[in-house]
Amino acid sequence: MSLKAIKVRFPPSPTGYCHVGTARMAVLNYMFAKKMGGTIVFRSEDTDRERSTKEFEEDIVHELKWLGLEWDEFYRQSERTPTYTRELQRLIDEDKAYLSKEPSKKDPSIEVEVVRLRNPGKSITFTDIIRGDITFDTTELGDFAIARAVDDPLYHLTVVIDDALMGITHVIRGEDHISNTPRQILIQEALGYSRPEYAHFPLHLAADKSKLSKRKGDVAVRSYREKGFLPEALLNYLAMLGWTPPSGREIMNIDEMIAEFDLHDLHKSAAVFDLEKLRWFNRQYVERMNEDEFAQYALPVFKSALEEKGNSYDERLAGKLLSLLRERIDVASDIKEAVAEGEFDFFFIKPTLDPARIPDKKSEAGAALKHLSFARDALTEISDSAWTAEGIKDALWEYATAEGRGAVLWPLRYALSGRDKSPDPFLIASIIGRESTLARIDDARTVLAA
Ligand code: GLU
Repeated sequence: MSLKAIKVRFPPSPTGYCHVGTARMAVLNYMFAKKMGGTIVFRSEDTDRERSTKEFEEDIVHELKWLGLEWDEFYRQSERTPTYTRELQRLIDEDKAYLSKEPSKKDPSIEVEVVRLRNPGKSITFTDIIRGDITFDTTELGDFAIARAVDDPLYHLTVVIDDALMGITHVIRGEDHISNTPRQILIQEALGYSRPEYAHFPLHLAADKSKLSKRKGDVAVRSYREKGFLPEALLNYLAMLGWTPPSGREIMNIDEMIAEFDLHDLHKSAAVFDLEKLRWFNRQYVERMNEDEFAQYALPVFKSALEEKGNSYDERLAGKLLSLLRERIDVASDIKEAVAEGEFDFFFIKPTLDPARIPDKKSEAGAALKHLSFARDALTEISDSAWTAEGIKDALWEYATAEGRGAVLWPLRYALSGRDKSPDPFLIASIIGRESTLARIDDARTVLAA
């Protein structure tokens, strides 16, 4: 027996921006095809002329490529009408389908023509790789429509013709298509095609276990891309939504996942699309970036966020903030939010100080003034080469330990940042430099003494 070359399909309908569900379907097909040494067909299922657009098709192609997926053949169903007409005509000639004139569903006063399959009305059983044997009684389906006209085929017909003529061996798709399968098998049998293998995987759900929809958050891949999610992270997350590799590893590149992939390991119950988990995946990839990669990832977002706020961007200063930015975020859009909330303002502009907030909760203004004066003197004496977070800490630590760390370090930190929460004062001082540090300490002393 010769083994048929494995071939799968990505068959999106371009009626919306690339949905994360489409991306997940594609990832699963991709891993299976690559694992089996097979090939992939991209098929734009644009037979719904009213809802399909070029823009959506381009978006789907773009987002799947952005995720790192690729295919070997590309088809557009709207360009294949002659093929469908030929096969449909064959069915009509063999009396397996017939033209039926009937009142329009939309407007019963108008007569329309449809092409219906002569349904033998038998029981159909197919073996699903994920779910086992599934049996349907097709009697109830009646003579269902397969085309609006000889040159205007409907979805079930085009899918069946394409899968057969393109040599698709495995149909791997969401379980919302299970109920379509018996119809498609009836059409296949009427056309004398062989049956592909089927694998219907559970759909993934929103956090509240309902169907993932626009109302419940972002469903378009492009919105994750625009927020700065990394393609490797999203791909990794989508692949593992409903699949656990035997090794139990989570962070894996595509080749590692392909090596472990087996359709039989897909979970039988629905997975939940968890934004927090996706953010965690992204963070793992952010942590693994080298410094240059992180700078390229973070700085453009940082720059545009600061400029949007009217802060002037200082490249040298921004470069010093990289490690701080990296600690702070899961995904690039977090930078935007942090900047919008003013978290980084004090690095670029002098903070406005509230004298009541300068002393730490347990101290009086007089104590804060004394500690700030000590800090000023100590920091004036440090040599230029010791002006690092470590060097600054060394100059203050003994005093702070003796006098109370909160009492000494809180006023200093607040003087430098003007915020209740910020990085430690040593780091801030090392970044803004000696001149700004001393000037801010002086400002705090002035408002305290006033
Ligand atoms: N074009 C169909 C859809 O986007 C998929 C058809 C199939 O997988 O058979 O839902």
